[in-house]
Order: sequence, then structure tokens, then C-alpha cells
Amino acid sequence: MTNPKILLDQYNLMPKKSLGQNFLHDPNALEKIVSTADLMPEDTVVEIGPGTGALTRALAEKVRHVFSIEIDDRMRPILEGELAPYNNVYLVFEDILKVDVLGLVGEREYVVVANVPYYITSAILRHLLEVPRRPRSIVLTIQNEVAERIIAQPGDMSLLAVSVQFYGKPEIATRLKAGAFWPRPDVDSAVIRIDTYETLPFEVPSTDLFFRVVKAGFSQKRKQLRNALSGGLGIKTQAGGELLEAAGIDPTRRAETLTIEEWARLTQVYSA
Ligand code: SAM
Repeated sequence: MTNPKILLDQYNLMPKKSLGQNFLHDPNALEKIVSTADLMPEDTVVEIGPGTGALTRALAEKVRHVFSIEIDDRMRPILEGELAPYNNVYLVFEDILKVDVLGLVGEREYVVVANVPYYITSAILRHLLEVPRRPRSIVLTIQNEVAERIIAQPGDMSLLAVSVQFYGKPEIATRLKAGAFWPRPDVDSAVIRIDTYETLPFEVPSTDLFFRVVKAGFSQKRKQLRNALSGGLGIKTQAGGELLEAAGIDPTRRAETLTIEEWARLTQVYSA
């Protein structure tokens, strides 16, 4: 792989902290990310934030199509140079949150592989998961602490954990030291893989309603669920307690202890 610092120097560019520009410069880390994705030659990959193109090249070697979306137009000459040998890479210079990913990949099944800017990890996950046709899997290099929150189990759940685990199974594939990136970030990273469900296993009247209930539950940290729920849904505490009891959930429990099945059951009772 070409050293990102050398590439940026050649073009007189400095990494932008505001865009989360910490570029991979460790070939072993690159190899771990690619192998986590378990790619097949026919695959279509969507990459977010190609930067100087190290991961993009590795992906282009492995699969049929790579769609890479980069917000920083300064990277255009670097990427066009680095990727010139590959005719299977399609570059888009745009904010990922404004890109219609399904419009880009068309009917193809697709996988997302990305070393994402940390400042928008949750927004990216929502953008990728809250669509009619989700990626088969998502392999993201993210802040270690955020990865731990995503894979949390009942007892430590958060709105982020529910938002991901509703759509798929997340696991941490490997951890990467801060030194694998240049400039070196303040924190270590983890490579997370989310295998999405083909059919959602949780029965809910609508996903909008499900997330309204979940958000209400998490709206007041450390409060008993009957209080948080009633505050968040704009109903009386007693009504919140009755809803929970009807769903077979102790009203004095806290949001972080519920399983996704329990949130789904609560949504069913609320909609009835
Ligand atoms: N993939 C490269 C690598 O591994 O070396 C770069 C990773 S760097 C952590 C994140 C990249 O995402 C940067 O190139 C940055 O410019 C880009 N980026 C930041 N915000 C973005 C956004 N909203 N949409 C698309 N790309 C973005």
C-alpha cells in the first residue's frame, strides 16, 4: 500500500481532523479488514470515505464492483491516480448521508466495507440500516468504545445497540491499535461486522412505531421504565406502567435491561 502521508505530501495536502481523516497505513490492519468482509468475486461493495484509496484498492482486487463515496473533493486527484488501474471502481464525491445508496447499486446485492469517520458513525449506521433493502453485511472500522456499545447485551443496552441489533447480528472481528492509522487517533479502533437479517425476526406493527417506543424508553437515563416511557410517549405514569405489565415487563426495570423481543412486545401492546 502507498503510505498516506507520502501521498498527501505529494499533493500538498494536510489531513482534516473535522472529517475524521485518520488514514490506514498498516498493511496487516488492511488485510484484517478485508478478510473480515468475506468477499466473493461477484460482490458489489459500497465503501464510505476512501481517503487516499488504500482500502479501495484492496477491495477492487477482490470484487466485481466498488462504489466509493468521499466527501473531500481534495482527494480526487489522489484517488483518480491510485485507482487508475482499476476499471471496476466508481467514485462519488458527496456526503454519504446525502447519497441514495440503493439508487447507486441498483438491483445488486451489496456489502458495505468502510473505515468510517468517527464523528458520524451512528448517523451512517442509520443511513445504511433504515432502508428497504439493506446490505448483506456491513464491516466498519470504528472507535473501540462505540463497537462495545453496539454489541452490548441486555443490562447494558442503549438506543444505538437496539438500533443495530434490530436489523442484524453485530460482532467485533478484531481490534486495531491507534498506531495503525496516520495521523494517530486518540483512541483504539475495532472492526465490527454486522450480518443483517434477510427477514426481520422481530414482529412489530411498524418500525417507526417500534423506534418511537424505544426512544421513549431511553429518553430519561437511569429512570424506571414506567416513568421514562410515559414521559417519552406523553402518557400518564400509571398508563405507562399498565402498558409494561400488559407486555409482561416489570415496570420498575430500566431501558438498558430489555431484550429486543421485549421492546417488540411492548410496541405490539402500545399499538393495540
Ligand atoms: N478509507 C481511508 C483509509 O482507511 O485510509 C480513509 C479513512 S478516514 C478514517 C475517513 C474518510 O471518510 C476520510 O477520507 C474522510 O474525508 C471521509 N469522510 C468524512 N466524512 C464523510 C462523509 N460525510 N461522507 C463521505 N466521506 C466522508
